[in-house]
Amino acid sequence: MISRRRDEIAGMTRFDAIIIGSGQAGPSLAGRLTRAGMTVAFVERKLFGGTCVNTGCMPTKTLVASAYAAHLARRAADYGIVLNGDVRIDMPKVKARADTVSTNAREGVEKSLRKMDGCTVIQGHARFEGPDTVRVGDEQLTAPRIFINVGGRARVPDMPGVHDVPFLTNTTMLALDQVPRHLVVVGGSYVGLEFAQIYRRFGADVTVVEKSPHLISREDEDVSEGIRQIFEAEGIRVRTTAECIRLAPHRDGVAIGVNCVEGPPEAIGSHVLLAVGRRPNTDDLGLDRAGVEVDERGNIKVDDSLATNVPGIWALGDCNGRGAFTHTAYNDFEIVAANLLDGEHRKVSARIPVYALYTDPPLGRVGMTDTQARESGRPLLTSKRPMTRVGRAVEKGETQGFMKIVADAATRKILGAAILGTGGDEAIHGVIDIMNADATLDVLRWAVPIHPTVSELFPTLLLDLKPAGS
Ligand SMILES: Cc1cc2nc3c(=O)[nH]c(=O)nc-3n(C[C@H](O)[C@H](O)[C@H](O)COP(=O)(O)OP(=O)(O)OC[C@H]3O[C@@H](n4cnc5c(N)ncnc54)[C@H](O)[C@@H]3O)c2cc1C
Repeated sequence: MISRRRDEIAGMTRFDAIIIGSGQAGPSLAGRLTRAGMTVAFVERKLFGGTCVNTGCMPTKTLVASAYAAHLARRAADYGIVLNGDVRIDMPKVKARADTVSTNAREGVEKSLRKMDGCTVIQGHARFEGPDTVRVGDEQLTAPRIFINVGGRARVPDMPGVHDVPFLTNTTMLALDQVPRHLVVVGGSYVGLEFAQIYRRFGADVTVVEKSPHLISREDEDVSEGIRQIFEAEGIRVRTTAECIRLAPHRDGVAIGVNCVEGPPEAIGSHVLLAVGRRPNTDDLGLDRAGVEVDERGNIKVDDSLATNVPGIWALGDCNGRGAFTHTAYNDFEIVAANLLDGEHRKVSARIPVYALYTDPPLGRVGMTDTQARESGRPLLTSKRPMTRVGRAVEKGETQGFMKIVADAATRKILGAAILGTGGDEAIHGVIDIMNADATLDVLRWAVPIHPTVSELFPTLLLDLKPAGS
């Protein structure tokens, strides 16, 4: 039976639920719990909306849009458009645009929480004092249900010289209101690659330093190579197999030792962005006092329903290590709410991996890579098509990249797909939907798509399926 009271017992304020962190799961969960009649204490230590709204998806995708506008303006003549004069970047205005998008979203989240019936917003850093008790400053809160949605922050790697030089992270990058002369991005994965292309298009010299032999090394090699080619065509220097990366002060900024197999041993940057992964915000949460277990990376251990080892405590979003995206954090909310309030039995393991890399052209991804599909030992069908043979891409003058699909030859179920090409982040949803419907590829093969679109090539791609390796 749910207590509807928020009352004081022995200096403690009791609620039906406490939510820590206003990321992508917490605010929506507060909405469902309060609508179910519960009292909720909502604790946020800094910016409402968390990473996505303030220092992640929203500001970066706003910058991606500005960078795309600059790129298209430089290519105007290709489309028969005459622009008189150079393309110049008004960086304070670019930044102001990104700030406005973030601020509006942040204020929206805060306002909705503050006016939510049954929700008490508390600003401050939450720390567990026991399995059902949390302290925020002088206030002690208690509840039979506690939901942790504390997200993560940029990881600062323990590389030689890292503390001898100024460096930027995704958060401080967004405070720049000038274009760096030469931006060196350490880390050739999702966050680093987006910033690299954005700032190249804003006019900076850009070098990407990556310790693996390939950019975004979790992807298939043709995807990594495709992105490398797109970057190099825009004048971005890519230094892979950069072993033993080290940083040192230099009269022109920062010297980044890269020890690559090829090329000079150093890159000299005016600014350095460290984009080498994220770490969960779990080290300052007092989890040990509640008895909540974490893994060796600090991620909170959860079961398939996102429950921790302590009854009554759940962990949602990036801090549980089961996803690293806004949509996975939001889906965590959906799973927890459905199981607690709707009598369902939703599981994280039922989630098909989906994501996009917002370079231009973007990479839209679903399911397995070809490499993973091969490693699974199944008989495979594969098909691939360059964007030069996609009418919509030709018409838009954006023909870099390719689209490809891999399926199980026995079950005729799609295992995965990638579109590195214009509109790839949207078009991939056709495949995402078929995979979620657990339908065979023949359903997509016989669908009638709209012409001209990138999606319309999926039936053709499926018609061209061949046994892998043939
Ligand atoms: C540069 C960048 C670009 C990105 N782009 C995309 C993208 O395009 N698409 C995508 O899907 N994902 C993207 N992501 C990832 C996405 O931002 C995260 O996966 C998502 O925000 C995770 O949300 P979350 O709910 O786990 O927590 P977060 O959004 O990180 O929020 C956690 C909140 O908890 C608060 N908090 C932490 N500790 C405490 C405490 N002890 N007490 C009180 N409050 C606390 C924090 O202040 C924060 O507000 C990007 C990330 C970065 C860094």
